[in-house]
Amino acid sequence: MNTRTPLVAGNWKMNGNRSMAAELISQVLEGAGRLGGVEIAICPPFVLISQAVAALHGGGMVVGGQDLDPSPSGAFTGQTSAELLVDQGCHFVIVGHSERRTLYGDHDRRVAEKAGAAHAAGLWPIVCVGETLAEREAGDTEMVVQRQIEAVLQDNGIALFNRAVIAYEPVWAIGTGKTATPEQADAVHRNIRQHMSERSSAIADSVRVLYGGSVKADNAAALFKQEHIDGGLIGGASLNSTDFLDICAAAANSLC
Ligand code: PEP
Repeated sequence: MNTRTPLVAGNWKMNGNRSMAAELISQVLEGAGRLGGVEIAICPPFVLISQAVAALHGGGMVVGGQDLDPSPSGAFTGQTSAELLVDQGCHFVIVGHSERRTLYGDHDRRVAEKAGAAHAAGLWPIVCVGETLAEREAGDTEMVVQRQIEAVLQDNGIALFNRAVIAYEPVWAIGTGKTATPEQADAVHRNIRQHMSERSSAIADSVRVLYGGSVKADNAAALFKQEHIDGGLIGGASLNSTDFLDICAAAANSLC
């Protein structure tokens, strides 16, 4: 049995507003108080971060950003730095989400740079990796995921993963209702650990590898029971408190 504390992080994407955030956070806080053994984070849009941090204060849950700019400050209109996220009270930040990679040109080197800047500022980067459907069908899943992780390793070294999380999110499963089977997902997670163990077996064993891609209340338990799956990065289902709390409960129970 492993000793990794499961993590469930909700990625709200560009959804929500002040009143929705107030209601959702208070419902999740109330339910999360009854759960032990799972770390819970929410990643709202930038403009809702300070509200979320204030609402969660003392409740045992933490907040993350959905992206960052690797520069510390300066003339970068519209961007948000790791330093600003830390100043707002963030603990995590997502980097390399497939929507950033495909819609905003975040290539492997840029993701590596973002992960390094987040880590250097004291944040825990959640480094997203995953293959497209065409890449899976071509049998390239492991190669793609290793390439994405390798870029982060080459830029930052294995030690970054003492304070970072990996999220395996097959692109074909994000927001589509299609989920990797628990066995398919676990095989990729195992491969990620094997790849990292070439640098450090201790870090390969301790790093949390989340699964993301249409995780719902009814499939979370089977996914989280897998040996190498340490929780989830949750999109759509994190916008409903009952669904999100059921997913958090599945993660809490996964070590039983
Ligand atoms: C995500 O965007 O990280 C995600 C996993 O989305 P969904 O759960 O909606 O598939």
